[in-house]
Parts: sequence; C-alpha cells; structure tokens
Amino acid sequence: MPAEPAYVIVGASLTGGKAAETLREEGFGGPIVLLGTEPERPYERPPLSKGYLLGKEEKSSVYVHDQAWYAEQDVDLRTGVTVTAVDPAAGQVTLDGGETIGYDRLLLATGASPRRLNVPGGDLDGVLYLRTVAESEHLGSVLRHGGKVAIAGAGWIGLEVAAAAREFGCEVTVIEPEPVALHRALGPELGGMFTDLHREHGVTFRFGEGLSEIRGSGGSAAAVVTSAGAEVPADAVVIAVGVRPNTGLAADAGLDISNGVTVDAALRTSVPGIYAAGDVADVFNSLLGRRVRVEHWANALSSGPAAARAMLGQPVSYDQVPYFFTDQYDLGMETAGVPEPGGYDQVVYRGDRAGREFIACWLSGGALVAGMNVNVWDVSDDIQDLIRSKRQVDTARLTDPDVPLNEV
Ligand SMILES: Cc1cc2nc3c(=O)[nH]c(=O)nc-3n(C[C@H](O)[C@H](O)[C@H](O)COP(=O)(O)OP(=O)(O)OC[C@H]3O[C@@H](n4cnc5c(N)ncnc54)[C@H](O)[C@@H]3O)c2cc1C
Repeated sequence: MPAEPAYVIVGASLTGGKAAETLREEGFGGPIVLLGTEPERPYERPPLSKGYLLGKEEKSSVYVHDQAWYAEQDVDLRTGVTVTAVDPAAGQVTLDGGETIGYDRLLLATGASPRRLNVPGGDLDGVLYLRTVAESEHLGSVLRHGGKVAIAGAGWIGLEVAAAAREFGCEVTVIEPEPVALHRALGPELGGMFTDLHREHGVTFRFGEGLSEIRGSGGSAAAVVTSAGAEVPADAVVIAVGVRPNTGLAADAGLDISNGVTVDAALRTSVPGIYAAGDVADVFNSLLGRRVRVEHWANALSSGPAAARAMLGQPVSYDQVPYFFTDQYDLGMETAGVPEPGGYDQVVYRGDRAGREFIACWLSGGALVAGMNVNVWDVSDDIQDLIRSKRQVDTARLTDPDVPLNEV
C-alpha cells in the first residue's frame, strides 16, 4: 500500500491549528506536521488586548486545543522552530536548525507581524509592540503600575490597549495622523463615535500628528515627540500602527505575492500543492468577486479549515462575509462586510445612536454591503445573510428597529 501523503503546516496559530483539526475531522490519516516559531501551542490573539491583558481571563482559555489534543490526534506539533525556506521543486521545507521535512501538500499560515516604527529612540526599553502572549504579559505588567502611556496609532489594537490602560488607571495619550480614530476603517462619523467614547474615559488624542521620536532617560522611554514638535511624557510607548503579512517565505520560494500571498478561491497559491490562509493570504473571495486580505479572527477560524478541505481535494470556493468584533469599555461591536471608502453610496442607522445601541448599515445601489451592530446582539447572522443575498432593501424598513432584519 502506498504511504499516505504528508501534510505540513507552517504557522502554529489559529489558522494552522484549525487546519490541522479539519484535516483529521475530514478523515485524513497521514502525517501532519505543524511548525511554529513561537514557544506556545496555537492560541487565539483577541484576548491579548482585552481580558487576558486585563488579568480577567486565564491563560488556559486562549489556547485553540488542549496540549493533549496534539498527541491524541497524532499531529506532530513542533514549537520554537522557524521554517527558513520552502523548496517547491524538492517538495520540502527547511527549519532553522538545518533539518528538512518533505511534504506532499503545504499550508502557509504564517500570519502577520506588527509594523515597526523606525524613529529615533525606537529601541529604548519601554517601547512595546503587541502580537504575542509574551508581549501581552509584558504589557500587562507595565500597565499594572499605572503611569503615563503614549500609544502610536488609533486603530483597533491601539484603542483596545488605550481602554485597558485606562482600566489600569494609566494616563493615556494616543497619537494619530488621521483626523479621528479608526478613520480608514470606519470613516469620520463612526470613527468619531469611538473617539468620543475614549475621550469620555479620559483618553487624550493628538490627531493630525505622527510619532517622530522617543526620548529616553537611563535607557528607558521617558517621552515621545510628535511631528508637531510637542513633547508628551511617557514611561511606556505602545506602537500600534498596523501589521504586515509574513510573505517572505512565500516570496523567496517564487510564489505570487499581491497584498499578501496570492491565492484563488480554493486557497491555492500560484505553485501547485502549496496553499495559504489566514492573515497572510490575499484570497479571491467568491462572494465579493475580488481578492481581499482579512486580518481578523473569524477569517483565521474559517479559512484554515477551508484550505484543509481544498488540500484534501474537496471543492472549495471561499465566500465568507468578512467579520470583525471588538470590546472597549462597555461597548461591544461586530462588523460584517467591508465598509471601505468607495464601496458604498449611503449609510443609514437603525436604533439609538446617541445611546450607542444601534446598527450602522452601509448600502451600495440599494443593497447592504456592510453592517455594524453596536451593543445590539444576535443580529450578525441576519446582517451577513442580507449582505450575502445582495438583494435590494427598503431603507425605511431597514432603519425601523421593529421590522425584523430578515424582512427588510
Ligand atoms: C492583540 C490582538 C488582538 C486582536 N483582536 C482581534 C479582535 O478583537 N477581533 C478580530 O477579529 N481579530 C483580532 N485580532 C486579529 C486576529 O488575532 C488575527 O487575525 C489572527 O491571529 C490571524 O491568525 P493567523 O493564524 O492567520 O496568523 P497569526 O496569528 O499571525 O499566526 C501566525 C503564526 O505563524 C508563525 N510563523 C510565521 N512565520 C513562520 C515561519 N517561517 N516558521 C514557523 N512559524 C512561523 C508566527 O510566529 C505565528 O505564531 C487581534 C490580533 C492581535 C494581535
């Protein structure tokens, strides 16, 4: 009997862990090797800027699987190893220790890394990034002491860290070149709502300014200087200016790269036998009819399994409605769809905007393209169904909270 093919997954995080799970669930009995740079087994990152950072969630709650699961499922999980090269012609990957591992199918789930800010003082103690469990634990230990915190970037991570820092009693200044928080993600109105929320909780914003220097004292950060020349005292500086997909391995192996590793709707890269999913993949989404790279939890959760099914030869056409959630202070929010500038011609609201219990609806040509429910729950499935249907909606009914969403 011929040996079962070997499947190798690079990146032991949510995408990689879920892909391994799906391979077994779908009955694959051959070897699965799951390789990850981090010392931890696969875990979920959202708690790292929320409950886990605040000390309200146990470490055990962040993991994708129990430690025992890997042995039970015969998944060869190797942590603390980095894949340094992929050789598609030989069908093998090379590890940092020099070992090579052969594969029949390869999944790249290498994720993304925080963008670094190349400014004077950027390497001082107290200049922090947030992506890993270790970084979350370190940040938590710093914030717990209170003090003055400067945050570069009013995006999702910057704002979640600002909310946590305020809960710890820190003095928080957020520096952001755009005119309001989340300007690129949500536009001026809804970005303004998040700005107001943080101001009400005592956060100071410096909009229209970038972080241009970090000044130190005794090797540690003591202040930041903005592009307007203002000096803001800071014992800790959190850099939260977005992420870059980890495409280096794929590029070196000759795979096509666009906004990430280019894949089709079956998560296949330009090289046969190699797939990509999660934050690193620029996926052709068959619902949206274009490629999109999504840097969110739900995409890791569903694209890893989709890639696994494709690797097994099942028909796959990735059509997930992009979905994102955040929790800041007492505000919880979910967004489905892509409310990007140019992608809609109308925004209407349903519910109580002033009281921050509402749904924002982005429409294009009379059809819903994105919806954000703020402190309104159990509606995201209906919103996603509406987006998926692409049908015309009656805006009078859409904005009437008494009309069920599936009847607008
Ligand atoms: C602090 C934080 C909070 C977040 N909160 C939310 C939220 O509230 N809602 C939401 O929707 N999303 C959130 N996200 C985003 C979400 O966590 C990511 O979309 C998700 O982690 C992507 O999973 P991934 O497995 O594709 O990539 P990653 O999580 O980046 O994992 C990739 C893994 O691959 C490893 N790797 C890379 N290269 C190699 C190599 N050459 N060899 C071996 N291993 C390698 C990396 O070390 C890493 O462990 C948050 C992210 C962070 C950092």
